[in-house]
Amino acid sequence: MNSNGYHSMKAIPVYDPLPEVEALWPELEEAFRRVMHSGQYILGPEVEAFEQEVAAYLGVKYAIGVNSGTDALVIALRALGVGPGDEVITTPFTFFATAEAISAVGATPVFVDIDPKTFNINPDLIAPAITPRTKAILPVHLYGLPADMDTILEIARSHGLKVLEDCAQAFGATYKGRKVGTLGDAGAFSFFPTKNLGGYGDGGLIATNSDEVAEMARMLRAHGSRRKYHNEMVGYNSRLDALQAAFLRVKLKHVDAFNARRREVAARYNDLLQGVPGLVLPPLTEGHVFHQYTVRIPVGRDQVAEELASKGIGTMVYYPVPLHRLPVYGYPEGTFPEAERASREVLSLPMGPFLGPQNEHVASLLREILA
Ligand SMILES: *Cc1c(COP(=O)(O)O)cnc(C)c1O
Repeated sequence: MNSNGYHSMKAIPVYDPLPEVEALWPELEEAFRRVMHSGQYILGPEVEAFEQEVAAYLGVKYAIGVNSGTDALVIALRALGVGPGDEVITTPFTFFATAEAISAVGATPVFVDIDPKTFNINPDLIAPAITPRTKAILPVHLYGLPADMDTILEIARSHGLKVLEDCAQAFGATYKGRKVGTLGDAGAFSFFPTKNLGGYGDGGLIATNSDEVAEMARMLRAHGSRRKYHNEMVGYNSRLDALQAAFLRVKLKHVDAFNARRREVAARYNDLLQGVPGLVLPPLTEGHVFHQYTVRIPVGRDQVAEELASKGIGTMVYYPVPLHRLPVYGYPEGTFPEAERASREVLSLPMGPFLGPQNEHVASLLREILA
């Protein structure tokens, strides 16, 4: 038994999918049975029902299920008319897929630095980065915290640019009372298993209020065809599976409760870690759904992570290399100092709707290490 009395405390991974599977088992089993007996495994009524339920949940006209969050970004960009020769302004402090999608459609990601307080794109830096080739702005609601959408939308409006929101980490997050993914021209969501609304495999979705964007996205996900074998353009095989849709319909019913629970875990962390020297805590901003609970440790971050690991606590660094510093993009060091500093300082602690007293164990170990 150690000084905290946790003698039989099991290792705490940064994310544990199993308690949720246990809790939802009867509903998941029923969904599995329904789809297996339906004989329809790709798109079909189950996916249509899920799309309608998500559209109603978000308060948006159309929801289009696709194969992954990455595909949601690629297809949404193409549906918004972004292509070769265009520039898209985005953040360098995100998962690679954000910029990869821009490159994949033949456009160029133009990075601007982040706001160190939110880790999201700094809207003050967007206007100076606009050129005659700029077609769109792609903000990311990183860690579940909505980006400064009013300012971004205002800049887009005054320059005639499209806005695609990367909502992969922010299902259910709200900005001034409205769901993210419904504020710009389109929103791209991911159902990768670890996300706030995660399936049990790959999946993604595009939300939009635009008839044209929805129609184009529907065509692109199905080989560029409205009618089977009457392909009108080169598209993708990027359809959502019926099984994933059925599982996600189960989870959609719980997503508000799960997001509320994530906020409680974050609030508890903030209470327990208040005043610890050498630690910067995330703000409990309204609408934040805490996909990740991410602190800054300005000195010795990697050492702290190692010490936590040696005590069985999983942590992650999202993201250790800002995208502009990856060889594919290869900007010189110092180009975006806030993104580079964040990469050196951030540490995400165990988080999830089923994290109970382990929450307190993690906080007390972190306090001890930093003391
Ligand atoms: C997960 C993620 C994606 C990609 O989603 P996939 O479903 O894994 O393809 C894109 N952007 C961000 C910010 C993400 O976190």
